[in-house]
Amino acid sequence: MSLVLYNSLTRQKEPFQAFNPEQVGMYVCGPTVYDRAHLGNARPVVVFDVLYRLLRQLYPKVTYVRNITDVDDKINAASLARNIPIHQLTAETTAAYHHDMASLGALPPDHEPRATAHIPQMIAMILTLIEKGYAYAVEGHVLFQVEKYQDYSDLSRRNQDELLAGARVEIAPYKKNPEDFVLWKPSTEEQPGWESPWGRGRPGWHIECSAMSAEYLGETFDIHGGGIDLIFPHHENEKAQSCCAHGTKMMARYWLHNGHLTVSGSKMSKSLGNFFTVHDLLQNHKGETIRLALLMTHYRQPLDWRPEVLSQAKQTLDRWYGILNDLDGASSEISEGYAVLEALQDDLNTPQAIVELHALANQAYKAESISEKMKFAQQLKRSADLLGLLQENPQEWSQQSPTVSLTEQEIDSFIQQRQQARQDRDFSRADEIRQELLEKGIQLEDKAGQTFWRSV
Ligand SMILES: [Zn+2]
Repeated sequence: MSLVLYNSLTRQKEPFQAFNPEQVGMYVCGPTVYDRAHLGNARPVVVFDVLYRLLRQLYPKVTYVRNITDVDDKINAASLARNIPIHQLTAETTAAYHHDMASLGALPPDHEPRATAHIPQMIAMILTLIEKGYAYAVEGHVLFQVEKYQDYSDLSRRNQDELLAGARVEIAPYKKNPEDFVLWKPSTEEQPGWESPWGRGRPGWHIECSAMSAEYLGETFDIHGGGIDLIFPHHENEKAQSCCAHGTKMMARYWLHNGHLTVSGSKMSKSLGNFFTVHDLLQNHKGETIRLALLMTHYRQPLDWRPEVLSQAKQTLDRWYGILNDLDGASSEISEGYAVLEALQDDLNTPQAIVELHALANQAYKAESISEKMKFAQQLKRSADLLGLLQENPQEWSQQSPTVSLTEQEIDSFIQQRQQARQDRDFSRADEIRQELLEKGIQLEDKAGQTFWRSV
């Protein structure tokens, strides 16, 4: 099977064909560095990290570019609110972002361009757009004239009314049409600004990605990714700018978008009190647990984050690390092939890939000889590598997670013994078993006549 990806542009799964199979290019929109990354920011990072790892298996060279937006009105506001200089805020937030994403097992991209280091490229692109008649300068602003680009909206498929509503149009008398969007805007003395043919000012957000993707990947490249909320207006505008400036039909051949993230059924928001950063989560959970929890849902589906998702991910990892630990750390080097390859090549089907890993783990448990066990454990380790999982030292993981000393079968057998004891009205024995399990890190819970367990 070869790689198939769902393309938001055509609304269908398509076989992936690289422009140049010797070098695949992928651009993913990165963070605006004014605050610590929240869980919704982490989802695309982990999803596209799996795609990056997969592409590197399939192609000799992959260039992955993810930008840093370090000029933005939210940054200006946060710098004022915290009373620290902008450069300090963006440097600190970028460092925190790197730390948090590395904790989730995300590989660094090949290039991580900062917007403020690419202002001349943005100005040059804006000049080209004016010269070609797609943009106009007025009162220190430069605006992209949407009606000049015929293919506008073929990515987000919005009609005129939706375009207007969605663009959250500001009252701006200098605009020729309300849907026209900003390429450049003037800065006050206090705001960050750069000299330009239109006076001192700063770029709009969308032009950053058009200029930086062209700089590192060329005028047309293979994959452009990001969260679903970026389709409009950000990606629609990026595409308009790039195609018009370069005179190309397409900016990227495949547009990939991950679904929304909700928390216990609601939109994550500070006012609802269900807002948390990756940093918050890392205080109580290991990065790999969060990573697996994010990958248990297919990337295009909405992900509803609940506490059970994390405990399920932890149980799974405890079990898998337990297998590696029992065998004194199976190495991925010896095994060949990836049990998860087919699933991942099918539009990054990570839930199916996780099913395959469970199957290997079960085979390792059931295997009768040590050499058989070793074989499956090695396959498990190697296949998990492709998802960026089981990257930690199994012994260290197991020391922190007492549950790995028990297999699921063993826990089940304890639960059965306890049930028997209760049926025999030997309650002290039943309590003893519960206590024994608790000491091994397993908490029992009786609900609706059934016993459930979780690791603690
Ligand atoms: Zn972007």
